[in-house]
Amino acid sequence: MTKVAIIGGGAAGFFLAIHLKELLPTAHVVIFERAQRVLAKVKVSGGGRCNVTNSFASVTDLVQVYPRGAKLLKRLFRAFSPADAYAWFEAHGVPLVTQEDECVFPRSQSSDSIILCLTRQAQRLGVEVRTQVPMTELERVGDAWRVHFTERGEARQEVFNAVSLTTGGAPHGEGHDNLRALGHELATPCPSLFTFRLHQPDLTALMGIVVEGAQTAIAGTRFRGEGPLLITHWGLSGPAILKLSSQAARHLFDCNYQAPLLISWSGTTNTEEVAAQLQRLQQAHLQRQLGNVRYADLQARLWHYLLQRAGLSPDRPWGEVGRKGINRLANVLTADSYSIVGRGTYKEEFVTCGGVSLSSVDARTLESKSAEGLFFAGEVLDIDGVTGGFNFTAAWSTAVAAARGIAQRLTSAHLQPLVGEGHIDKAR
Ligand SMILES: Cc1cc2nc3c(=O)[nH]c(=O)nc-3n(C[C@H](O)[C@H](O)[C@H](O)COP(=O)(O)OP(=O)(O)OC[C@H]3O[C@@H](n4cnc5c(N)ncnc54)[C@H](O)[C@@H]3O)c2cc1C
Repeated sequence: MTKVAIIGGGAAGFFLAIHLKELLPTAHVVIFERAQRVLAKVKVSGGGRCNVTNSFASVTDLVQVYPRGAKLLKRLFRAFSPADAYAWFEAHGVPLVTQEDECVFPRSQSSDSIILCLTRQAQRLGVEVRTQVPMTELERVGDAWRVHFTERGEARQEVFNAVSLTTGGAPHGEGHDNLRALGHELATPCPSLFTFRLHQPDLTALMGIVVEGAQTAIAGTRFRGEGPLLITHWGLSGPAILKLSSQAARHLFDCNYQAPLLISWSGTTNTEEVAAQLQRLQQAHLQRQLGNVRYADLQARLWHYLLQRAGLSPDRPWGEVGRKGINRLANVLTADSYSIVGRGTYKEEFVTCGGVSLSSVDARTLESKSAEGLFFAGEVLDIDGVTGGFNFTAAWSTAVAAARGIAQRLTSAHLQPLVGEGHIDKAR
């Protein structure tokens, strides 16, 4: 019997196992999961609702949403697109809804729907799932692979025709030495999708305030973010920050999370345009106090804070503000300058950037270029996206590509009988 090991029972592992069993119903497909429960991240994802994919309607270039892996995903989406993932879940009993912000969730608003769907499909197709069985090492034996693992405290091993690694992000480079020894390049892991710590008590005193449609940037770089911005008691959060953290993940890691941050509270970086808007506001309200006539309906407490940053008293009438004052305020509204002093530890959505370098895998099948019969899918690869369902979308499409790659390899290969086939060998 043809045997395939899938290491890691997360989103990518289950999707791969299901698709592989559909392509090769007679193959014995085993998922090895080190934790007690499978699909743990799916469970907590999207605040327990699971943002399963995205409509991509607002995405004009994949680089905007995949700082790493856009080129490969463009290719893989031709074979299994986000729309295919949407259709797959609906066809397998999970009605979905697309929100106004283009994020797709199960209509049930519960990640349990996705977990039930994946586990039921795997069970229906006869995928074997072993939990609390961590894989410890992969070893090439002739045409096949020996998987070393621990089961009930005992070191064991078993031989497979093909192996797929779907072990997810490895924040501390877990398993990277083994992969390096097998000839792969590994991009240094570092966190992506995190909040920023700022030492700015007058700003953090405004915690809880959200500015819709803000823009953020790391000064002196091309890294940008946009969307709602949330002021927290430790600094800043919200999509405008998470997107920026994703784009600049490696840069911020390299500078130890100390970097100059620019915020546009107005949602534009065009200072002249904002200055012109402020002048129109001034002409319409010459007698009224600055504190009482707010730009773009910014929250009163934030507006007072921004006036103070521009050196303007909220009691001052608009008519008494000179050209320089207007320009200072326009500057604060479009390019307010702060210092990031660290990375937030609050795990809103946390993914790992880095992992198996895309140059080490075949771009069509995700098979290792250096180790035949070894495939990769999901976050173990150097692919990661911003928030909005993009990370699961990458997991679904890479899993399908690897499943097809494995099926193709196993049907075309003249397979040798496996050593130790059909039973578990105790470690030597
Ligand atoms: C709190 C949170 C919320 C998120 N929300 C969303 C969201 O709403 N939408 C979205 O698109 N993305 C979201 N993400 C990101 C998304 O969860 C991941 O990108 C996705 O789970 C990656 O899937 P994966 O299968 O590659 O890895 P994982 O889901 O991490 O699965 C890998 C599995 O492999 C197992 N494993 C690892 N090493 C071994 C080993 N040696 N032996 C056996 N098993 C092993 C792990 O225990 C794990 O179960 C969120 C992430 C977090 C942390």
